[in-house]
Amino acid sequence: MMSMTPDQSKKVGLGMVTASPSPFLTPRPERRRPESRGSDRNPHRQDKDKETNVQVLLRCRPLSDDEQRSNVPKVVSCNENKREVIVMQTVANKQVDRVFNFDKVFGPKAQQRSIYDQAIAPIVNEVLDGFNCTVFAYGQTGTGKTYTMEGGMRNKGGDLTAEAGVIPRAVRQIFDILEAQNADYSMKVTFLELYNEEITDLLSPEDNSPRPIEERVKKPVALMEDGKGSVLLRGLEEESVYSVNEIYALLERGASKRRTAETLLNKRSSRSHSVFTITVYVKETVIGDEELIKCGKLNLVDLAGSENILRSGARE
Ligand code: ADP
Ligand code: MG
Repeated sequence: MMSMTPDQSKKVGLGMVTASPSPFLTPRPERRRPESRGSDRNPHRQDKDKETNVQVLLRCRPLSDDEQRSNVPKVVSCNENKREVIVMQTVANKQVDRVFNFDKVFGPKAQQRSIYDQAIAPIVNEVLDGFNCTVFAYGQTGTGKTYTMEGGMRNKGGDLTAEAGVIPRAVRQIFDILEAQNADYSMKVTFLELYNEEITDLLSPEDNSPRPIEERVKKPVALMEDGKGSVLLRGLEEESVYSVNEIYALLERGASKRRTAETLLNKRSSRSHSVFTITVYVKETVIGDEELIKCGKLNLVDLAGSENILRSGARE
């Protein structure tokens, strides 16, 4: 799933579980580099390869009111300090606990803000240093991926609510830092959904035609390679944004488009991936008549429910 591109990249996976009776386990993957990188032409990259730049964090959501009412047994417990998750199992009347370790563990009481501050803010700083970084939310449907990534997107007067998730907080942090630095910057965002092998642009302008809405929410975007090892999305709307509120408005439009599609296509979100991407360009210096521009990219990915991950095309 976390394939490396030749550019400087940092990736983080947020695994989601619930404290419900049938836990979905996300064991820590082996920290192994893709083999293909051994043949890298750039000698400097060899050193960089020794760094670990994939982290796996685990968040366990609280039991919902319904789950509490029906008195489901709690079988998952989190030890944030020891960074482990304990799953209690009874096999042949014997209690057999299994322990899983992660780079960070957030228990049911963890708030959106503390997860962001501890786990995501450092990554956003790397984006502003010119790295490409990706955060994936992975887990079964109902475990809190969308809550973690989007949460409450909107907020009164541009202020974040306690419920705001990773996306609105990242947007806020990027603007706050660049504004404080008085930087000369520009920013572009894209928001897409991948469902059933098809890419939908969640930012494409509203279509008010009388066609049925299932056709309206679709705007085909072609996935192609640019011949230089990068992936290109032809037809994807790239919106230049100049203020936090502008991005929030776009996000809302995109998220509501996703919800519209969902009510029509019956739990579509459990089978679709969504990818929100911010690209930041910051003017560094001017050498002679050449401008030096630093470019960083942040991909925030809300994956399809891991129960249908086999059908999603995701591997490893
Ligand atoms: P997913 O996207 O993984 O299918 P959701 O994000 O839609 O799951 O979460 C399922 C439900 O649980 C939603 O009603 C959401 O508001 C709630 N929820 C998820 N995580 C939390 C949390 N940490 N605290 C409170 N409610 C949560
Ligand atoms: Mg979801």
